[in-house]
Amino acid sequence: MIAGPCAAESEEQTLRIAQRLSNVSGVPLIYRAGAWKPRTSPETFQGVGEVALQWLHSVKLNYGVPVATEVSTPEQVRKALETGIDYLWLGARTSANPILVQALADVIAQSPSRPKGILIKNPVNNDAALWIGNIRRFQKSDFSFQILAVHRGCGHKPCWEMAYRLRQELPQVPLLLDPSHMSGQASRVAELCCIAEELEYDGLMIEVHDEPQHALSDAPQQIPPDELELIIGKRVLKPDTPLELRWLRRIMDEVDDVLWETIAQRMAVSQQIGTFKKANNMDIVQPTRFEEIVQRRLKWASAHGIAPDTVTQIINALHTESIRKQQ
Ligand code: PEP
Ligand code: MN
Repeated sequence: MIAGPCAAESEEQTLRIAQRLSNVSGVPLIYRAGAWKPRTSPETFQGVGEVALQWLHSVKLNYGVPVATEVSTPEQVRKALETGIDYLWLGARTSANPILVQALADVIAQSPSRPKGILIKNPVNNDAALWIGNIRRFQKSDFSFQILAVHRGCGHKPCWEMAYRLRQELPQVPLLLDPSHMSGQASRVAELCCIAEELEYDGLMIEVHDEPQHALSDAPQQIPPDELELIIGKRVLKPDTPLELRWLRRIMDEVDDVLWETIAQRMAVSQQIGTFKKANNMDIVQPTRFEEIVQRRLKWASAHGIAPDTVTQIINALHTESIRKQQ
């Protein structure tokens, strides 16, 4: 369990939350807090920088827990290792850039001090191969520390297939789930932790703040320490379906989400077309246009191994609903 605030905001806040988490028992804890925050907008809080490393060092001394922070540049790696930060994580934005990832792996290889472990988050884009490639860059350097993967999803969507592929290709790499960045909502963190257990993840990375409403970054997704305690205490009933099937069903549900959202989008366009037809005194049903749609999809279906009958049934269902909307 890796837990702590999104960002180290002040020495007092960093130590106060660490103190609160040191009373949460049940799992071994690694304390996280970002010193440098890679934010989308330059107008938002960018992290306090290097000074936070000292605060994390105090957490380690006072509470005896290993500490973790995010690094995005070789200079940040050097500073974090000099200060004795135990675990370094590569964020989603860094993970999108293989040249930078290689530079970070190289600087660790040359560094006199070693971290206990490196956590590599999935890239901001849904790219399993890039994520796997980043992990391989560290593995190739043959380091003695642990290399872990953190699944944080893309754009507040899990993208389960990306993690499924990582599990298949690198089964020996511990896989953690970050429900905070995956959902962007504190109210969804507990539910995602249950899914992590159902899918047999090896651990969690959760953003915890004792005053989430006042957090300087990622305020909507940070949970209070009390809720972390509840999550840790909650035992999920072991499902009796095989693990492989549980993964495939999660992937299928996510594909279905896209499918149904697409159907809703299609209906919205259909309604706009209906308005246009009405304004221009056109018939709702345009047979040549319908025939063109059917033929195009039948050709597509044969290339994808889908039965022509199925395609016709789906198009007819969509068409019927479109007509109803346009009427
Ligand atoms: C973070 O963990 O605070 C963070 C910035 O994560 P990500 O790179 O997943 O956005
Ligand atoms: Mn964050």
